[in-house]
Amino acid sequence: MSVKYIDVKEPVLKNKEHYLTSDYKVRGDRSTHNGMDMIGKNHGIDEVIAIYDGVVITSKYSTSAGYYVEIEHENKYISRYLHMKKGTIKVKKGDIVTKGTILGTMGNTGNSHGAHLHFAVYDNKRIPQDPLPYLLGNLNFNSDYFRIFVSNIQSSLNAKVDGIPGPETLSKTITISAKTNRKHPVVKFIQEYLFNLGYTEIGTADGIAGPKFTKAIKHFQKVNGCVVDGIITKKNKTWKKLLKLN
Ligand SMILES: [Zn+2]
Repeated sequence: MSVKYIDVKEPVLKNKEHYLTSDYKVRGDRSTHNGMDMIGKNHGIDEVIAIYDGVVITSKYSTSAGYYVEIEHENKYISRYLHMKKGTIKVKKGDIVTKGTILGTMGNTGNSHGAHLHFAVYDNKRIPQDPLPYLLGNLNFNSDYFRIFVSNIQSSLNAKVDGIPGPETLSKTITISAKTNRKHPVVKFIQEYLFNLGYTEIGTADGIAGPKFTKAIKHFQKVNGCVVDGIITKKNKTWKKLLKLN
């Protein structure tokens, strides 16, 4: 077996060392391989992590894929992680995950010969894409939706409107909760955005930070490692996470 090291920017293995054992090739015949096979550090087993934020749309077993997980991302593209070890899968359908969330452990289940990860990327019509540019960070799973969300937030906070969040945007943010600014125009944009990310419990975007809003914010805070209090402030990390600032 020939093994090639890939210098990955957006890892799918926890130890961030990726060795390619079988390449992606789509030829429309039996030699087609619509993903990349990888092994980890020291050519061994590693934990499998989400390449980017998204919603788990599949977490189950199939005779070909073994134990596998599919994540739908913001741009509706799907990343797929196959052949994981039985009993190691840590996510279920409907879970919201962030980049780096551990999905399970590399394994040898399904149609597999030796423990490895088969990593695949599909577009919104389920057509396989070459995963390499995604691993190298040359393509991503963002959509225009995020840029529009940021522009709307900037506009309603009287910040400079360019769709790119930065310290200036953050400095203009205000506290939003069921008690503070509960009908501020920014509430509606947050409702629409979080609904699109899979926080469906937020309900319809009525522009009012009510109990559903608080519940969804708490869920977002939990997923993103923030203090879970349902209150969005400049000082807590919630605004930073909403704006994807670190
Ligand atoms: Zn494969």
